Amino acid sequence: MQDGSHSIVSNGVLTSLAAQAAELTQWRRVLHAMPETAFEERRTSAFVAEKLESFGLAVHRGLAGTGLVATLKGRGGEGPAIGLRADMDALDIHEATNLPWRSDTPGKMHACGHDGHMTMLLGAARHLSRNPDFAGTVHFIFQPAEENEGGGKVMVEQGLFDLFPMQAVYGLHNWPNAPFGTFLGRPGPMFAAFDIFEVKVIGRGAHAAMPQRGIDPVLAASLIVAQLQSVVARSVSPQEAAVVTVTQIHGGDTWNVIPDEVVLRGTARTFTRQVRDLVEERFRAIVEGVCAAQGARAEIRYERRYPALVNHGAEFDAALAAARATAGDRVIADFEPIMAAEDFAYMLEAVPGAYLCLASGPGPNLHNAQYDFNDELLPVGASYWVNLVHSLLPVADPAP
Ligand SMILES: [Zn+2]
Ligand SMILES: [Zn+2]
Repeated sequence: MQDGSHSIVSNGVLTSLAAQAAELTQWRRVLHAMPETAFEERRTSAFVAEKLESFGLAVHRGLAGTGLVATLKGRGGEGPAIGLRADMDALDIHEATNLPWRSDTPGKMHACGHDGHMTMLLGAARHLSRNPDFAGTVHFIFQPAEENEGGGKVMVEQGLFDLFPMQAVYGLHNWPNAPFGTFLGRPGPMFAAFDIFEVKVIGRGAHAAMPQRGIDPVLAASLIVAQLQSVVARSVSPQEAAVVTVTQIHGGDTWNVIPDEVVLRGTARTFTRQVRDLVEERFRAIVEGVCAAQGARAEIRYERRYPALVNHGAEFDAALAAARATAGDRVIADFEPIMAAEDFAYMLEAVPGAYLCLASGPGPNLHNAQYDFNDELLPVGASYWVNLVHSLLPVADPAP
């Protein structure tokens, strides 16, 4: 007997997935206890691959190292192909919970809930394997190194969408401190582009009491920090969002010596290509202009990291429909954009798709040493994936 694919517990959480909550919780806690960071998700990847194979799915290993893709064809015949993506990596945080399933590795922790994301997608993969009542193909994508290192980008570069052609790709992230079980999203830009910069301000050291004999990089660096505030305040339109933050200043060793150089570091966040270009252009002009005025010299390193995560219109609407099928009216479609970054952005640059957050109720925030994924979300997120597949890949009505 199949496990009751379309019966519904509350709102659109599937009965069969709700009935598996205890088992999903156990998987999630196994994953939680063995956190691994960027491109080193070996135990994690092996656990996920073994589960996928136990559902009868063929697993493609080795995309971006530890990345995995499992493919399932529906029993309903030809149809589109879609991708559902979960991230696998943990963070370099020393877990401060006392939970029985806490991290077994000092200094590493699943503090962003990727353990839960994997489990929700595994739950959906098992359900759909048992009930392939859809027309088309689903690719289950498990990616490494979401935090900082752009594992999603590496998967795209290594041919994710050539090896597994698909019309659309979808992502989901848990979100603490919003009402439990609510889906959150917005069309267009939802997470910011993330750039980093480093400036070496090179002056000429001198006796602190004879500044006229040197070129003071401390003064030049201070002027740069102050002037950079004008990028957002005076160059970016008040209708647009941007952040330029200097997070480090390093220079000097003692009371009475003007040093030769000072190093500044920081980050810029933006939502559109135009604003991103403008911020970098103004950044370079200010650093070089201030240094020139002070007789100093600047060495600038400005690196573009993750692009902005931009939801595509039609795919966002499809994701919202699946969210409503799962959670009824607990769906917020005009969620405020977040200045943090998310490397699913690389996948959305390559193919259309959409990304939603799923609120987990009150508790420690993401990236906090006290954080733990809320297991009550597991059947909700898994049901969302199943509802998304059913709405995107419907089985055609038999001819009359
Ligand atoms: Zn994170
Ligand atoms: Zn995350």
